[in-house]
Amino acid sequence: MKRLILLLTVILTLISCSTEDKIEDIVVIGGGLMGSSTAWELSKYGQNILLIEQQDSVYTFGSSLGEARISRSLGPKEDIFSFLQQTSVKETKHLIDFLNRGELQELHSMQDIYTTSPVTYVYSQSQLKDVENLLDGQLDRYEYASNKEEAEEKFGMKISDTTLVIREYKEYTGTLNPKVLIKKLHRGIRKSGNRINYNQKVTSLKKEDGVYKIKIKDAKTGTNKTILSKKVVAAAGPYNGTLVKDVAPYFSDLINPKRLFLSFLKIKSDKYNILTSEQKNRLRSSYPVAYINSEIFYSMIEKYDESNRPILKVGGHFLRTEIEDLDRVWKKELTEQEILWSKINTADYFAKLDLPIKSTDLEFAKGYSCVYSLTESEIPYVSQAINHSIEVDSSFVLIGGMSGVGAKGSLAYGLIAADFVLGNDNNSLMYQKAKSALGTQRLMNDIDNIDK
Ligand SMILES: Cc1cc2nc3c(=O)[nH]c(=O)nc-3n(C[C@H](O)[C@H](O)[C@H](O)COP(=O)(O)OP(=O)(O)OC[C@H]3O[C@@H](n4cnc5c(N)ncnc54)[C@H](O)[C@@H]3O)c2cc1C
Repeated sequence: MKRLILLLTVILTLISCSTEDKIEDIVVIGGGLMGSSTAWELSKYGQNILLIEQQDSVYTFGSSLGEARISRSLGPKEDIFSFLQQTSVKETKHLIDFLNRGELQELHSMQDIYTTSPVTYVYSQSQLKDVENLLDGQLDRYEYASNKEEAEEKFGMKISDTTLVIREYKEYTGTLNPKVLIKKLHRGIRKSGNRINYNQKVTSLKKEDGVYKIKIKDAKTGTNKTILSKKVVAAAGPYNGTLVKDVAPYFSDLINPKRLFLSFLKIKSDKYNILTSEQKNRLRSSYPVAYINSEIFYSMIEKYDESNRPILKVGGHFLRTEIEDLDRVWKKELTEQEILWSKINTADYFAKLDLPIKSTDLEFAKGYSCVYSLTESEIPYVSQAINHSIEVDSSFVLIGGMSGVGAKGSLAYGLIAADFVLGNDNNSLMYQKAKSALGTQRLMNDIDNIDK
């Protein structure tokens, strides 16, 4: 018996030593849209990577939760967000091709991820200059109603004299499905021969003697282990600040998580069933929508229920509130006012669409709290770290502060992060413009301005 115990002890020691001794090339922490995109882009480049995610393979909380995000491309000349959306579409096509490679039939398609549909933007007359700027030399296909007669003629809409409407039409603008995209990214990572470890929560991240020491707790068994890596990508969404406090402490000042709410509304069935097919089609082709006002009401069709009624996802980009406890905020219920706000704004849009649906005709299907990680300028970071000697540390990249714009550019952010990790560059003007808006030089300036 004693011998057996001794033998087991030796084996266990050997196992734990081998885990400690192996040094990974690159560890990506966080398997939401950003970490998964970065891990995929690194896999595409032929790198050995390990992706670590604290949740199980089914994603149940985080900024990427859900089945619909607006994917829009329209922007003013040389807009980095248009570039990021279009680059992400191109990169997603590569992913789909890769996933279908070697298969007897095409199992994956862009339509699994994107639902192409017109994107409607509602502005007020006071924003005329912004609208003109947006449309000046615009290459994407759009239609514009600058007054109520044009809105009626072009879109069948009933708007006031002070409202302007733009509708964007482009392949792969409309909505994208983060749940499906994450699943396909993970498949691509594994098909490239790389590993994804789920249920692994990183509890400490430190750099010692030029190597990252990553302490991990298994969320299922509670056991702890430490892994080593030459390079790290932090993509922990709202948790980035806590995760990187020892290696890049300034990020907790520069990225602030805020709570938002999402309501899911349905039109009551007695009302929906009496709409004509033309009215149902008008409703369908009028989503997604964004009111570019002080609250930024946005809404999209998340999916259809079993009786084919649309489930409308509704939120307000600027209706953000402080978070007391990041781990518990996801469970916070919506207030009556938040639900009412969602219904009133939805009914207001239906009135503009000339559809006979009032706020009392809407039922609240569900709702949940969500989190944005915000930078001061609302422009995300994809950046290397700056060390104590104010030098760039290219062994560490953070991708975060994605606010409400990240999803549509997911794979483009991942591509830039992967390029930073590998020291790759790309001379295209827009790539350089995006890199300098998101990247390390900008981070240096922002660090300088902390507490000023
Ligand atoms: C309500 C809402 C609406 C939005 N609407 C749009 C939209 O219409 N269009 C658009 O383009 N974008 C939109 N966005 C933005 C987009 O969804 C986000 O930018 C994107 O999902 C951010 O992804 P992420 O990977 O950075 O974060 P997350 O999805 O939060 O991923 C971080 C991951 O890291 C994991 N993690 C955290 N800490 C640890 C740890 N210690 N160890 C291991 N794993 C860890 C988490 O479990 C999580 O899976 C919206 C965002 C929200 C919240």
